[in-house]
Amino acid sequence: MNILLINPPNCGRSIPEERYGIDSLKQIFRGEPLALEELAGNLLQHDVRIADLKADPDGLDALLAGFIPDVVGITGVTCEANTMLHLAAKIKDCCASVVVVGGVHASNDPSFFNHPAVDFIVVGLGKKVFADLVSSLEKDETDRGIPGLLKTNPGADLRRPDCCNTVIDLVDDRPPAYHLVSQYRHHYVLEKLNINMGFVASAYGCPHRCSFCCIKGQTGGRYLTKSIEAVLRDIRLLGDIPVIRLVDANTFGDIERAKALGQALIDADLHKQYLADIRSDTVVQYPEMVRQWQQAGLRAVIIGFEGISDASLSVMNKANKASINGEAITILQEMGITIVGDFIIAPDYDEADFARLGEYLDNNTVDLPMITVMTPLPGTDLYPQQKNSIVNHNLDYYTLTNAVTKTKLAEKQFYTLYAELLATSHKNARI
Ligand code: SF4
Repeated sequence: MNILLINPPNCGRSIPEERYGIDSLKQIFRGEPLALEELAGNLLQHDVRIADLKADPDGLDALLAGFIPDVVGITGVTCEANTMLHLAAKIKDCCASVVVVGGVHASNDPSFFNHPAVDFIVVGLGKKVFADLVSSLEKDETDRGIPGLLKTNPGADLRRPDCCNTVIDLVDDRPPAYHLVSQYRHHYVLEKLNINMGFVASAYGCPHRCSFCCIKGQTGGRYLTKSIEAVLRDIRLLGDIPVIRLVDANTFGDIERAKALGQALIDADLHKQYLADIRSDTVVQYPEMVRQWQQAGLRAVIIGFEGISDASLSVMNKANKASINGEAITILQEMGITIVGDFIIAPDYDEADFARLGEYLDNNTVDLPMITVMTPLPGTDLYPQQKNSIVNHNLDYYTLTNAVTKTKLAEKQFYTLYAELLATSHKNARI
């Protein structure tokens, strides 16, 4: 079968830009569409193509001029959900293909895609489910019963499907089809340093339950890891690309396995530098493991510090302490590991809150602070808590840089202080 997998273009909208001309807060996603490359790796007996519209926003028409897909898969996060539907409608118009959607938003709010332009919704990781669906379509079966798959039925209620959420879903004996994005590869660079960067997944899901986090729907709340051999294989498949971003939500969610992977990376002597997500309490509890990973090539870590007080961390169900965040910063700084730190500001921030976060960033060496706005994404525990306070329901704005609940400060002042904080904290950014 002819299969086309589409990564939507950058399409999130920005309130500060549209209303106040502040263009520094707009969210741009970069990097390769690894989720689609993983799906494609399990479909290689078919003629499968990937259209990365983030790298080539106008590339779809040219591709469709020479390739009529039987099946089209479209992935995306919440701020891309409307665009996914537009793409689905376009595909239905031009090619009458079977249209399948998946990814974070489809997993967290499948009913959003119960739409005439969509035929199937994949809930969860999808690598096995998508391949099972294609094989079922090929055989023209009607009774599918594939766990994690929903047939759309516009106008009717959709029941969330049972998913298996086990390592079987990872299909990690089939590597990602990295070769299918070779024409876009020059776009996949570490922006600040203009160095080529490749994505590898080593784990999915997370054992924690932060209230704002949307990854739970991907694995039904479970933490699943690829085999160590599969991780090494994928890194090797990226050839001479010098920097590997482990795109896991939490690479270190299982300490014994993380130690085994760190040792395997050392033994394999791959001469790579790694970027990976880790919690601050993991750094403080297991500094020797971080040192081991540094020996393996760990150059930078991404840490969700989120808040600067115990009270704010508790509200987010972060299960962590502000003092632990501080300890982790000191440990990593002493080791010389670059810290990319995520912080979340709340729409009810006032001037004093912005000043406090600014002061914290002045006094703590977070090499590259990333600051986002608390957003009740569908599928998170935060969503039911804040559902009735949402004032902006257009998902195009759910980029994590817009306030979709009411700001306490006048809106213009909120975004002005937000932009100033970001600019000040990035002035001395090192990565
Ligand atoms: S925010 Fe990080 S630690 Fe919390 S649940 Fe999500 S991935 Fe896990």
